[in-house]
Amino acid sequence: MRRRHLLQFLSAVLLSYASSRYRTTATATANEMQSNTSRIVVIGAGLAGLAAARELHHQGHKVVVVEARDRPGGRIWTSHQWPDTPLDLGASWIHGVQNNPLTALADEIQARRLTTHYERATTYNTDGQPLSRAENDRLERLETQVLNALTQAQTGDEDVSIRQAIAPLMQGLDRSSGRYRWLNFILSSTIEQEYSGSATDLSTYWYDQLQEFDGGDVLFPQGFSAITEFLAQDLRIEFGQPVQAIEWGRSPLRVVTSRSEFIADRVVVTLPLGVLKAQTVQFSPALPPSKQEAIAKLGMGVLNKCYLRFPSVFWPKDVDWLEYIPARHGEWTEWVSFKRVADQPILLGFNAADRGKAIEAWSDAEIVASAMTTLKTIFGDEIPQPIEAQITRWASDPFSLGSYSYNAVGSTPKLRQALAAPVGQALFFAGEASHRKFFATAHGAYLSGLRAARQILAL
Ligand SMILES: Cc1cc2nc3c(=O)[nH]c(=O)nc-3n(C[C@H](O)[C@H](O)[C@H](O)COP(=O)(O)OP(=O)(O)OC[C@H]3O[C@@H](n4cnc5c(N)ncnc54)[C@H](O)[C@@H]3O)c2cc1C
Repeated sequence: MRRRHLLQFLSAVLLSYASSRYRTTATATANEMQSNTSRIVVIGAGLAGLAAARELHHQGHKVVVVEARDRPGGRIWTSHQWPDTPLDLGASWIHGVQNNPLTALADEIQARRLTTHYERATTYNTDGQPLSRAENDRLERLETQVLNALTQAQTGDEDVSIRQAIAPLMQGLDRSSGRYRWLNFILSSTIEQEYSGSATDLSTYWYDQLQEFDGGDVLFPQGFSAITEFLAQDLRIEFGQPVQAIEWGRSPLRVVTSRSEFIADRVVVTLPLGVLKAQTVQFSPALPPSKQEAIAKLGMGVLNKCYLRFPSVFWPKDVDWLEYIPARHGEWTEWVSFKRVADQPILLGFNAADRGKAIEAWSDAEIVASAMTTLKTIFGDEIPQPIEAQITRWASDPFSLGSYSYNAVGSTPKLRQALAAPVGQALFFAGEASHRKFFATAHGAYLSGLRAARQILAL
C-alpha cells in the first residue's frame, strides 16, 4: 500500500513462525478464569488486539488474548523464509512518521528503518518504454482531469463509484486506445493500490477520507514484526484458538473456540472486517442493527504482494518505485525495488482490488510467469528468471479475508464509529476498520486498540 504524490496533491485539490516465547498451553479454562475479579478476553493478536491487551495488562487487568493463528501480528507478518532477508507479507511501511505512535514504539526498541521515496519512480508505457518528459506531463494532466471529475462528483446529489464518476472521461474511448489505458492506470496506481477496493465499488464521496501523519514513509529491514513481537511480550496469548462464538448476553461472557472456552467480564473484539462479514464467528445474541449495517456496508479490499528474488539487478538501481501502464486493467502497475533501499536484488510487485483477488486462484508458477511477462516487456527477454518468489493471498486467508477496509458506495464514515461503538459494558471493538481517521493502516489498528482499552479503563 502506498501513499502517492498524487494523493498529497489530491488532498490539496479535494480537500508461520510461532515463537516459544509466546506459547502458552491451552489451559485457560472456565474455572481458572472464574477465580479472577477483572477478566478480559481480547480476540485477535494483531496490532489492535496487542495494543488493547498491553494497555489493560499494564493497568492491572487480567487479560488473555485468544488468537486463531500460531503467531502474533495478524496482518503484520514478517516472513523468514529467506533467512538473510526478512520480508513483510502484510504491512511494510509506517506511513507518515511524524507523531505516528508506531514511530515511538520503533524508537523504543531501536528498530532500524529505511526511507523509500515516491519521487524516485519511473513509469513505463505499455510497450515497456519509459515515459518521456512530455508523456509524464501528459499523464499528470490526465491525473488532474481524473481528480477534477472526482471533485465534481463529490458535490453531486448521489454517491457513485469512482469508475462511474470518471465515466465522462472514458466515454467513447476505444478500449485499445492509449488514453483508455492511461485512465485505467491512474485508477489502479493511485486509487485501487492505495485503498484496496475496486474503482467500481469505491465511494466517490468518501474514498479519500483517510487522514495522514506528516513525514516520510519508512520500512523495517528486519521486518515489521519487531513491533508486534515487542507488544506481545509479557502478554498471555492463547494461540491456535479460532473463536467460533461469543456469548455476550449473559454474565459472565463466554468466548468459545474450537478447543476450549474462556470466561470474561469484558471482551475486546478485533476480528478483521472480512471475518466479521463472513459471520464465521457467531455473536449470541446477534449484534445490534447499527453494527451489522456497518459490517455489511463498509468494504474489505485486497492488496497482494509478490516478491521476486533475482540473481542480479537488471532494473535501474536508483529508483524505489517502478510503474507500468498495462494493456489490461490493474496488471502489475506498481513495483518496489529493494536495490537502493536495502541493496537486495529483489522486486516486489503488487496486485490490488479485483485483479488482486482474481490471481489468488492461480498457482505461484502462473503468478510468477505473469509477472515475468511484464518485466520482460520492460527490460527485455534476456533478463534472468527469479531464483525464488514469495506470494500472498490475503483474500483467501480465513483469518483475514481481505487486506484492509475501504469506503464502499453506500457507506459513510459514520459507519466506522458504529463499528467501533461498545455494546453495553460487555463488548468492545477495535481493528483498523473501526478507526474513522486512520482506517486501513497499521497505526489506525494500533490506535483503535488503545481506544478500546481506554473505554474499559473509563468504566
Ligand atoms: C498486503 C498488505 C499491505 C499493507 N501495507 C500496509 C502498510 O504498508 N502500512 C500500513 O500502515 N498498513 C498496511 N496494511 C494494513 C495493516 O496491515 C492493517 O491495517 C493492520 O495490521 C490491521 O491490524 P488489526 O489488528 O486491525 O487486524 P489483524 O492484524 O488482522 O488482527 C486480527 C487478528 O484476529 C485474528 N483472528 C481472525 N479470526 C479469528 C478468530 N475467529 N478467532 C481468533 N482470532 C482470529 C487474526 O488471526 C489476527 O491475528 C497492509 C495490509 C496488507 C494485508
